[in-house]
Amino acid sequence: MMPIRCLALLLASLIAPHAATAADLLLDHVNGYTLDSSGKLKRFEAMLVDDGKVVAIGQREAMRKRADGAKIVDGQGRTLLPGLIDAHGHIMGLGTMKRQADLTSAKSLDEALAQIRAFASANAGSAWIVGRGWNQVIWKLGRFPTAKELDAVAGDRPVWLERVDGHAGWANSAAIQLAGVDRNTPDPAGGRIERGAEGHPSGVFVDSAMDLVTSKVPPLTPKQNAAALDAALAELARMGLTGVHDAGVDAQTIALYQRYADERRLTVRIHAMIAGTGADFDALAAKGPLSGYGGGHLDVRSVKLLADGALGSRGAALLAPYSDDPANRGLLFHSPDELTAMIGKALAKGYQVGVHAIGDAANREVLDSFEAAFAKHGGRELRNRIEHAQVVALADIPRFKSLGLVASMQPVHATSDMNMAEDRVGGERIKGAYAWRTFLDQGTVIAAGSDFPVESPNPFHGLYAAVTRQDQAGKPPGGWYPAQELGRVEAFRAFTLDAAWAARREDVQGTLEAGKFADFILVDRDIFAEAPSRLWSTVVLETWVGGKRVYARGEAI
Ligand SMILES: [Zn+2]
Repeated sequence: MMPIRCLALLLASLIAPHAATAADLLLDHVNGYTLDSSGKLKRFEAMLVDDGKVVAIGQREAMRKRADGAKIVDGQGRTLLPGLIDAHGHIMGLGTMKRQADLTSAKSLDEALAQIRAFASANAGSAWIVGRGWNQVIWKLGRFPTAKELDAVAGDRPVWLERVDGHAGWANSAAIQLAGVDRNTPDPAGGRIERGAEGHPSGVFVDSAMDLVTSKVPPLTPKQNAAALDAALAELARMGLTGVHDAGVDAQTIALYQRYADERRLTVRIHAMIAGTGADFDALAAKGPLSGYGGGHLDVRSVKLLADGALGSRGAALLAPYSDDPANRGLLFHSPDELTAMIGKALAKGYQVGVHAIGDAANREVLDSFEAAFAKHGGRELRNRIEHAQVVALADIPRFKSLGLVASMQPVHATSDMNMAEDRVGGERIKGAYAWRTFLDQGTVIAAGSDFPVESPNPFHGLYAAVTRQDQAGKPPGGWYPAQELGRVEAFRAFTLDAAWAARREDVQGTLEAGKFADFILVDRDIFAEAPSRLWSTVVLETWVGGKRVYARGEAI
């Protein structure tokens, strides 16, 4: 007769034959990569998921043994990565751009005008023609485009087209008239109206002068806003992004994100940065920072400020004049005291602060302001950031480290800007421009992003630019200032673990480790074995957020 004890063991083993762990999903047979929390690259063949979170990664056999009853998805040996995080993008900008005239592909003024003419006739019912994406530098125009040129293709309907960097806008005569701008209108503080020989507005409005026209453009309806968000979410999932830091949103947009989070319709985890410390901030901060809202899909505990404009439109604030415009140093948007007060206001309420700074004067002002605000309010532990940190005086770079600031940088900017940037700042200042390697080597955390829709949200374009410092045609040979290249794992880390860290989300995002969200992608190649020159063309096959598939190439979800 079998002893009672043995019988009990036998029964137990029949009920639970493999010492199962609770898991509802097994991703089996994958070429998996993740960093561990110390940043080391690890490989795995299978991943167990339960209730949207990673249970374990490991070898196929070991994972199968623990997968009792779980749904099994065969990865067919494809490469699996943690979902990528864009640390600086503009979600609603991406969504609205998908629904507006998109001039990013125009290689000349004539091409742009032809596109505007086509858009205007395809959208005959809309009161305004709105779009973005033009870049007169690519057109080799040597000047800004004019209102008259727009009049010729769009007629009497008002037209407003933002430059690719969002720091200038191009209006036609009807829009200028509606804005009430004429030769007597002064340049507003922090902005510039481009003018013809007699002082007439010639069509382009730079930085704060843009408000003169944008204030007249009818706002999107709630329905149009939701449609724009849907378009953006679809595009982000297609790109393999499972996290985005949205760099500057208003209260209305946050309300929309909250509704989508409530309805479990957000397919990306959003770290929303409130635009400014004005009325929207006051209203939101009255309820306090929001963390992990809607199943960990939305955080609202960060503020975005702007210190200057952009390099392309010469709005970036420089310590010395532009190399290609000796009368111009660009514009600081705020006095040091104003900026310090805004930073302090956000820190005192427990909000992280990210300040846009492109030029070396702006970066210095922001560093000074953080230093002064920390002395008064503390808040260093909030992992505050400088957004772009694009042209920084060499002497100021170590201050990022001593002040504990994150450098939130966009690798593709370097390769898109390289020719223009060197014209603007010359051979000496360029040494502190797009200087990722210098930041990384001193121990500064780099959070990588794209600044979409200024650039494509495709994170593989960013990984490629970070690793090669070349454009997608492989230019220049050997890379642009190749000493600033990142290694492949370093670049990957900046788009995953360190981007999560820069949002204080590294405990739940950025790697595939037990307890973190099962946010991952399947891609068409092994990005750690692929030739660097082909990294940019990596294609995302599937995107999963919280253990749910939100995108599959060629399929409707
Ligand atoms: Zn931006």
